[in-house]
Amino acid sequence: MIFYFFLALFGFCWGSFIGMFSWRWPRGLGISGRSFCDVCRRPLLWYQNIPLLSAVYFRGRCVQCGKGFEGLRYFAIEASMGVAFVLTGYLWQKDSSGLVRLFRDSWGDFSLVLMLSIVLVFVGLFVVDLEKKLLPDVLSLIAGALIFLLTFFLPSPLFFNHLAAGLFCFIFFLSIFLITNARGMGFGDVKMAFFMGLLLGSPLLFVWLILSFVSGGTVGVILLFLRRATLGQEVPFGPFLLVSAYIVLFFGEDILSWYINLL
Ligand SMILES: [Zn+2]
Repeated sequence: MIFYFFLALFGFCWGSFIGMFSWRWPRGLGISGRSFCDVCRRPLLWYQNIPLLSAVYFRGRCVQCGKGFEGLRYFAIEASMGVAFVLTGYLWQKDSSGLVRLFRDSWGDFSLVLMLSIVLVFVGLFVVDLEKKLLPDVLSLIAGALIFLLTFFLPSPLFFNHLAAGLFCFIFFLSIFLITNARGMGFGDVKMAFFMGLLLGSPLLFVWLILSFVSGGTVGVILLFLRRATLGQEVPFGPFLLVSAYIVLFFGEDILSWYINLL
């Protein structure tokens, strides 16, 4: 119980940081210093920093100007991060997949720290791509470094498998990027693909590819149907890549064996 309580607490605190970072960084605002209202620029009062209070009681608005300070947005990110940390801790603890077991074998308990850090950066990338349709290089590089660290101590034939999987994904995405003339996806997605391949290795990368394209395509068609998106106005692909990678990391082998049984 204490384990999960601390995971939730860490998730909330880091979620608060990611909420701030993902707002300020793409807008070129400094990331140090006190939180301030995005509209009136006044520093927030101490009780405005309490997520649940500012989301529910102030309905997500700034107390001082009645606008800005998207409290609901921050609260959603903090709560999601709390849930993501608890879920990751749970799946890690019960060795939910062979891949997770391999990471535990090579890193011990520290593999949990690495995985939580990866989840943290993934949530940051998810939010920025959803809001601004870009995957900031600084976050992609941190994610890449963490993934490299996580896979580095795998037994060497397996490490080379993961490295080759990364290269394969990179070339595959680069081809789509070039063929569609950058309309299908951004170059941020191409860079991301390398790290996802590195994380998952072969054959799980294929499960990831199929899941990403099927979920992205389905949501794209639904949005088109609801006229929320028009053709040519792209739906960011990053969120699908990130969520699919998370699912495949923990359930990829189950999905694969289910699919093979189906055939
Ligand atoms: Zn304000």
